Amino acid sequence: MAQFLIYKKTDMNRKTVSDIVDFKGVGIHSGERSCILVHPAEPGEGIKFYLKSIEIPASFEYVSNTVMSTDLEREGVTVKTVEHLLAVFHLLGISDAVVEFLEGFEVPIMDGSGYEFYMMLKDKIVDTGVYIEPIDLRGYVRVGEYGCYIEAHPSVSFEVTYKGNINYIDCGDIFTYKGDDPEDIVKARTFCYLEDVDTILERGYGKGGSTRNVLIIGKEGIHSEEGLRYPDEPLRHKVFDLIGDIYLLGAPIRGKIVSYNGGHSLNIELIKSIVKNLPAVKIL
Ligand code: ZN
Repeated sequence: MAQFLIYKKTDMNRKTVSDIVDFKGVGIHSGERSCILVHPAEPGEGIKFYLKSIEIPASFEYVSNTVMSTDLEREGVTVKTVEHLLAVFHLLGISDAVVEFLEGFEVPIMDGSGYEFYMMLKDKIVDTGVYIEPIDLRGYVRVGEYGCYIEAHPSVSFEVTYKGNINYIDCGDIFTYKGDDPEDIVKARTFCYLEDVDTILERGYGKGGSTRNVLIIGKEGIHSEEGLRYPDEPLRHKVFDLIGDIYLLGAPIRGKIVSYNGGHSLNIELIKSIVKNLPAVKIL
């Protein structure tokens, strides 16, 4: 119990950024130019997006779409593809920040990974000294079915596993992030299969996608000048996405999460199930 208390006091304070950080680029699905500013916020404010004078809290309650990306909507205003920025906030422990859109409505895709967000934000973290209450899983939760499901188990730490087959790459089928080093996952880029590109475009997605910001995997190999950043990069990106989506809980979580072929929809379903079945229990 003593160790538990030390962990709580040293690692779980609310954090924000020391000054404004800007990111510019293109929205991967909208194809529109995008510019966002990450502002410092008061402890307890949480993460909020700000567009057209509307504040949209980074909460599962505002999720409006989970096809190809995780989008939030409030009062008719939508912000798209929030998951990579949220994953970096989660990994860095940033609990309070306002993300203002100066241009566009989709978080810029950057190089397809969270690396630029991570590199720009990691040296600007401010520990507010205010304790943040983690959400403590007190039981087993499962969502999904037929080989496509996510399980969450109680644990004293946060750990995420993705298990699933990746076509055309010999990279195994499982990756676990144990919270050791964010650089194990922040460089992993979003990916798709070459044979799906036409369908994705026909459905109106991926208008800002290119080999510069998407790892395209085909029968002949990888369509990316720099090749793979990790041998199992797609598996790591799936873990990265989950870490972003799960932050829509609004607080860090203690638990082990294992995703079997899951994606944004199941990630959000998992959050809703956690909230419904296992209300946050305060740790004394
Ligand atoms: Zn992603």
